[in-house]
Amino acid sequence: MAPSQRLLLLIPTTTYRTEDFVEAARSLDVDLVIASDRPNVMSGEFPDHLLTLPFSDPTAAVREIRGYAARRPLDAVVPVDDATTVVASAIGQALGLRANPLAAAQATRNKAVMRELLARAAVPSPTFTRVALADDPRTRARRVSYPCVLKPLVLAASRGVIRADDEAEFVAAFERIRAILGAPDVAEVGEGTDAILVEGFVPGSEVALEGLLEDGRLHTLALFDKPDPLDGPFFEETVYVTPSRLPEVTQAAVAETAARAARALGLTDGAVHCELRLRPAAAGPEPVVLEIAARSIGGLCGRTLRFGTGMSLEELILRRALGRPIASMERERAAAAVMMIPIPRGGILEEVGGLDEARAVPHIEDVTISLHKGQEVVPLPEGSRYLGFIFSRADTPVEAEASLREAHRHLHFVIR
Ligand code: ADP
Ligand code: CA
Repeated sequence: MAPSQRLLLLIPTTTYRTEDFVEAARSLDVDLVIASDRPNVMSGEFPDHLLTLPFSDPTAAVREIRGYAARRPLDAVVPVDDATTVVASAIGQALGLRANPLAAAQATRNKAVMRELLARAAVPSPTFTRVALADDPRTRARRVSYPCVLKPLVLAASRGVIRADDEAEFVAAFERIRAILGAPDVAEVGEGTDAILVEGFVPGSEVALEGLLEDGRLHTLALFDKPDPLDGPFFEETVYVTPSRLPEVTQAAVAETAARAARALGLTDGAVHCELRLRPAAAGPEPVVLEIAARSIGGLCGRTLRFGTGMSLEELILRRALGRPIASMERERAAAAVMMIPIPRGGILEEVGGLDEARAVPHIEDVTISLHKGQEVVPLPEGSRYLGFIFSRADTPVEAEASLREAHRHLHFVIR
């Protein structure tokens, strides 16, 4: 047997994906090293397997990992979420492992830089201007065209993303985002929290492409339709369904545009998650890039995907990072769907009813509530936590989607 490989997983405290990645690593028989940004209570007991790294200071993180790797060489480094993509690149480059160039990873983490690079490479993307938080929104409101979308440069999961249809809405949205950027957990991010991005609103339906880059080539793992309209003023994600019901030619155009976006940013290796809108045009819908991230799909949505004879998305990503063979990158034949359960209102979560009934709906695989009773539920645009997820698998995307909606009808939330 080949000597066991050593894998470094970079797991931010805010991620939903620890379990899925750790489980995938276990199934691979690797020496697993987990780094987090907060000390783990078990760190003292497993000093070689549980590390604490300053994720927001890549230079310092690289210094520490160099020392570690000198004693215990690493074969791969994998970021499990947005918050660790930059530090993973820095470490990967320093140790000569498969990784994106640092500048490319950094570009995905700042929406203004991303827009700039996409525009320079003529990748279809929204018009944009960057507005400093210190600017007077009333003056700015007079100079933009409507409808537009205001958003922070550095947040995720639609937090702080607001549509404005006129000057008054622009000013209100601006002030609201300013308050979000002042929240303690956001101010911690530091860089990029001093400005707001204003984009032209792109009409059309939305899709998400899940892909894997290998030496700069983008392989599509799955294309998700988002059948619920996302027209604002806030953009709460709900249903994702795969395979896409779009015509082949449109799907091919989406994949081509996502590949161009990856190239424009300089991404070369590992998972990518790209969100696009299909802008109606005379010659057929034109894919427009909303964003591209150097990570796989967020929340627990990765659980919808299985490859070949049942390989998880996480295992596929880890195998690729370790240079191990992947039997098949073909998604299974079944359709799959996930609903990020919409947040009905803000307050304290007191009770969740109907779980058994929802789980009993045909084609439903699981219903997971990710907030505990007693926790605060915060709707968008301020919120950053999911209420929960419903998963389905069926022969067709239509059935998979319908069962999600039926399961959702059985759920009720008491929020006070
Ligand atoms: P985040 O990184 O927080 O997810 P995005 O830029 O992806 O921020 O925006 C979140 C959602 O808001 C998108 O999925 C889309 O539905 C909507 N949205 C964002 N920008 C635009 C735009 N320029 N035109 C239309 N919709 C947009
Ligand atoms: Ca997004």
